Amino acid sequence: MSELHMIDPAAQPSSEATPTPSEPMVVQLASGFEKIGLAMKSRSWRREGRPGLGPLQRQILTLLRSKPGRTAQVSTIANELVVRLPTASEAVATLERKRLVRRRRTMQDGRVVTVELTARGLRACGPTAGAPDHLTMAIGLLPAAEQASLLKALVKVIRTLQNKGEISVARMCVSCRYFQPNRYPDPDRPHHCSYVNAPFGDVSLRLDCGEYEAAVPDQARDAWALFAGEQTATS
Ligand code: SF4
Repeated sequence: MSELHMIDPAAQPSSEATPTPSEPMVVQLASGFEKIGLAMKSRSWRREGRPGLGPLQRQILTLLRSKPGRTAQVSTIANELVVRLPTASEAVATLERKRLVRRRRTMQDGRVVTVELTARGLRACGPTAGAPDHLTMAIGLLPAAEQASLLKALVKVIRTLQNKGEISVARMCVSCRYFQPNRYPDPDRPHHCSYVNAPFGDVSLRLDCGEYEAAVPDQARDAWALFAGEQTATS
């Protein structure tokens, strides 16, 4: 290394010069999401002991796990996961080939097909199924407060993308008929879930809730304004 590039370890840091980010913050954050997305597509992450499940297949297994009898009709799966019927049918057929679900025709109406989670399917949708171990480990290293902030920020980003029709997501608190955001002044538990009739905080916001029921559009819009605007319901 030439003398010109050597750094004097005794030199005092300049109080005026600060490293300036090369890109605006929004571009930096979007780039960060992109890097994580790329890593999740990498073969080494997909190999992590998962039975080769795609995102929709994992969501179907999780949905079935939350249903009574661990069964649902294909049309219900399509509606609740906001995907087209042929897309849901194709994913169910793939899951059946992997012996993670089985399809049955109902006794009452032979035209209606129900999908049932198998024991193998139940094992494949454990608590951290769908989240690569590397990612859960890295997130687990964040302090609890940072995890809560990240969750809330993610909910907002996902909901905004959903509102713009860029992604299909359902079963999140922010579009649920039971969600009452910022109803209480308690900063730790400002929201209310009328399904369980209890207050809860940002740390408990759900991205995929089995008890979810879609709010009507007006209610969803008002709840989103309250949640995203950080107003209180009584203000
Ligand atoms: S039922 Fe589930 S999705 Fe709906 S508000 Fe309660 S916790 Fe959230």
